[in-house]
Amino acid sequence: MESGQRLGWGLVGTSTIAREHMIPAINAQPDSQVVAVTGSDRARAERYAAELNIPRAHPSVEALVADPEVDVVYVSSTNERHHGPTLAAARAGKHVLCEKPLALTLDDAREMVAACRAAGVVMGTNHHLRNAVTHGTLRRLVREGAIGRPLAARVFHAVYLPPHLQSWRIDRPEAGGGVELDITVHDADTLRFVLDDEVEEVTALSANQGMASGDLDDAVMGVMRFRGGVLAQFHDAFTIRHAGTGFEVHGTDGSLFGEDVMTQAPRGRVFLRRGDRREAVELDSHESLYERSVRRFNAATRGKGEPAATGEDGVRSLAIALAVQASAREGQRVAVEEP
Ligand code: NDP
Repeated sequence: MESGQRLGWGLVGTSTIAREHMIPAINAQPDSQVVAVTGSDRARAERYAAELNIPRAHPSVEALVADPEVDVVYVSSTNERHHGPTLAAARAGKHVLCEKPLALTLDDAREMVAACRAAGVVMGTNHHLRNAVTHGTLRRLVREGAIGRPLAARVFHAVYLPPHLQSWRIDRPEAGGGVELDITVHDADTLRFVLDDEVEEVTALSANQGMASGDLDDAVMGVMRFRGGVLAQFHDAFTIRHAGTGFEVHGTDGSLFGEDVMTQAPRGRVFLRRGDRREAVELDSHESLYERSVRRFNAATRGKGEPAATGEDGVRSLAIALAVQASAREGQRVAVEEP
């Protein structure tokens, strides 16, 4: 891409996330636009392109990555189809923003990161929550020592999977369904981001509360132990309609409460409590988490900074989610593999 020209984004996957969030976010930037799409079903990709004003639908991933107007490949197909397209994009010298979880196995995820690094292209993982003003503020306050030494964290990310998404997530293990790869992976990344620390080991119990089928879990609770000693409790589910979401960090000198913060929409509040005194923390204005993700990614392709979450971050969050899944299945605590 010539400097000053717009970055062309090519989409792998005729997905809901691209339709509802990423296409508007890419096209909202002055320096990028969606130029092409491909999917496993050619007719569906053509309909998707026509409906969303995408100039071209390609018949295959190979054709999309060979398109000279495609500079960045955004991979948002189902989870088992992130690996192949990422390798193909890297081979073609295209930057990659990949959805979470990066892959179904750590080896595949590591291979994706290595391929992008070897090709000299930027790779990001679309962990949107890092872009929220709420989580950025929580991270800053923890770093500044507003709560002293962090001791514990709690993430409430038990939501109701909307009917239009009640498909492969609840009935296709081979596509990477299940609550751990869908939601716990986000908790893992957000906890790492806010606490600026790494998870060493996890323990978890999961359940099937009537939405998922077969061996897939639709609810999980557990604890992650961080290197620095923080214990983080999490509750993730597809089955809880009325709880709302939250993210708390409790330290020696205070507690931080993020309310309504594990969301796709830019919203939520942060409170700091010391003793009986609870104050609302002033936040910069809320901004689309996905627009911010694309802006950071576009800048990274021009050598300015890094994507909000890198490929390595995606490997780490996957390692934690897989450890949670293994712990729940095996009934024991599991060490998190190093990336
Ligand atoms: P969808 O179920 O909407 O789409 C996933 C894939 O399913 C599509 O790419 C498409 O594959 C296929 N598909 C679409 N319509 C149909 C249909 N009518 N019949 C059969 N198959 C169809 O998934 P999501 O958008 O919810 O998730 C996609 C990815 O994005 C996942 O990896 C998910 O984890 C991630 N995600 C990330 C979020 C974030 O905030 N970071 C939020 C939501 C999802 P194809 O085009 O190849 O044919």
